[in-house]
Amino acid sequence: MSVLVVGSVALDTVETSAGRADRVIGGSAVFFGASASRFTDVRVVAVVGDDYPLGELRFLEDAGVDLRGLEQTAGESFFWAGRYRDDFAVRDTLETRLGVFGAFDPVVPEAYRDSETVFLGNIDPVLQLRVLDQIASPRLVAADTMNFWISGARDALLRLLSRLDVLLVNDEEAFQLSGQPDVALAAAWIREQGPELVVVKLGERGAAIFADDWSFDCPSHPVAQVMDPTGAGDAFAGGFVGHLDRALAGPGGRAALKSAMAYGAAMGSFAVEAFSADRFRDLRAGEVEARFRAVRDRRAVPTGARS
Ligand code: AMP
Repeated sequence: MSVLVVGSVALDTVETSAGRADRVIGGSAVFFGASASRFTDVRVVAVVGDDYPLGELRFLEDAGVDLRGLEQTAGESFFWAGRYRDDFAVRDTLETRLGVFGAFDPVVPEAYRDSETVFLGNIDPVLQLRVLDQIASPRLVAADTMNFWISGARDALLRLLSRLDVLLVNDEEAFQLSGQPDVALAAAWIREQGPELVVVKLGERGAAIFADDWSFDCPSHPVAQVMDPTGAGDAFAGGFVGHLDRALAGPGGRAALKSAMAYGAAMGSFAVEAFSADRFRDLRAGEVEARFRAVRDRRAVPTGARS
């Protein structure tokens, strides 16, 4: 079992009420890989420029993340700068520079083409589609996206939706994508475009999953001191998709999806406890299991989902 991920491998400059970090490692593939590698093998397809501190990714390789599909080319790495305000509730993007991602033509290594689970992390949907085209016969295809692509690459995103099993988005993105004013209606609209399952992340209010005839609310894990929410969504996706990949061999069904939601919430909560992906550097397996159980045993705050 393994998950192939394509997504950004970035340098981030982030400012929150708890502090600031300059040009630290980030990006959807980094947060996803740091999280999903706790559950299964992860294979990364991405590109960085010659300014990237590759040594900083060593902890991912040590955790079993395969970086053979990470190209390094001349030029500038993907750079994102953001600032959080209103007690972390609002994130303003100050700058997005695609750098080497602008001309990236992903070639999936031969050794990755048999991947059964694929996570198309937040990046240009044109690149997400190009990667998906190179996978022989995936069993589970999940994706994430964000406002930047919903407004800037809508047509490609709609083409992508028709090929997904699962879309993970936050509530704002779900509203923007669907034009619908509430979470359940937005999820229904998205499901009509293709994905069988839609996961809507609601920050500290938890997350909800929507299928055809059922839905389920999962609580978040309260964190004593939030440092930096960046990457929480990708870490959630890593827990969710990583658990489903290892569960593919088992009975699956609703029980597996509910556990996947709780693992997602647990991994998302770790991401916010430190800047960059630092909390994942020496995270112990026992901490992951303890937090999973804490989420599973909490009562959800209803979002309108039916169980
Ligand atoms: P999240 O907080 O889970 O939405 O993930 C934030 C991460 O996404 C940061 O580390 C950024 O480097 C990365 N990111 C920000 N904007 C984009 C974008 N337009 N495309 C791909 N990755 C992005």
